[in-house]
Amino acid sequence: THFGFKDVPEEEKEYMVKNVFSSVAKKYDQMNDMMSLGIHRIWKNQFVSALNPGNSTTPMKVLDVAGGTGDIAFRLLDHATQRNHDHSSKVIVADINPDMLAVGKRRAKKTPYFESGRVDFIEQNAEVLDKIPDNSIDIFTIAFGIRNCTHIDKVLEQAHRVLKPGGVFSCLEFSKVYPPLLAEVYRQYSFKFLPLLGTVIAGDSESYQYLVESIERFPDADRFAKMIEQAGFTLAGERGYECLTFGVAAIHTGVKL
Ligand code: SAM
Repeated sequence: THFGFKDVPEEEKEYMVKNVFSSVAKKYDQMNDMMSLGIHRIWKNQFVSALNPGNSTTPMKVLDVAGGTGDIAFRLLDHATQRNHDHSSKVIVADINPDMLAVGKRRAKKTPYFESGRVDFIEQNAEVLDKIPDNSIDIFTIAFGIRNCTHIDKVLEQAHRVLKPGGVFSCLEFSKVYPPLLAEVYRQYSFKFLPLLGTVIAGDSESYQYLVESIERFPDADRFAKMIEQAGFTLAGERGYECLTFGVAAIHTGVKL
């Protein structure tokens, strides 16, 4: 049966999103590779390289919101350590879903970062972040997460609140594919292939149906950049974003001045 999320009332959305990620948590990393044909790794590496964490004389505090299984956090710490020889910057992973966080913690224990206290996991709604003090964060990251939040503006407001003046907000998210012909190919791929893949691998087409719908609903890059600006950020570069793979994804960056 087709089970769409389009008409779900706002108050139920958060609950449903939680269920989606609980049901895929254990297979989440594997699914990412399959669905994006491994390309998400390239996007994530580009996202982290652009931020260049650890490139500072003082240790940084990074907050990775909707950080799930810690994929971005480990990349940030690897970059800081290996590229910048920074052994003291820390990353806090905040996510609304305890099942995703549990997978992240298990992964963290296999890295040196858990023992050294450089990575921490907290259960937090991106729209609330009440465990994070004002003006306390150097870099705020959110990768493939903001799309799942009910109120994008509240997330941006929280990002602005928790960042230190001079702090950087950076978001990696699906966007809109631009040449129309390619956009149609992508539509076919996502509406037909992804839910099918979800059924075969996870026995769960509904979650993947949700994924596709949430991508469709998310604002285009210019509109999202405006929202970031409206939250008080100064956009980085000319437009505040960079498109990846014909706009399948985009990196939006803003600075809290
Ligand atoms: N950032 C990770 C990555 O790139 O691999 C995980 C992305 S995953 C697609 C989306 C994550 O957002 C899930 O772990 C989900 O639990 C989390 N999430 C959804 N709504 C949230 C909210 N309101 N606050 C915090 N996290 C949320």
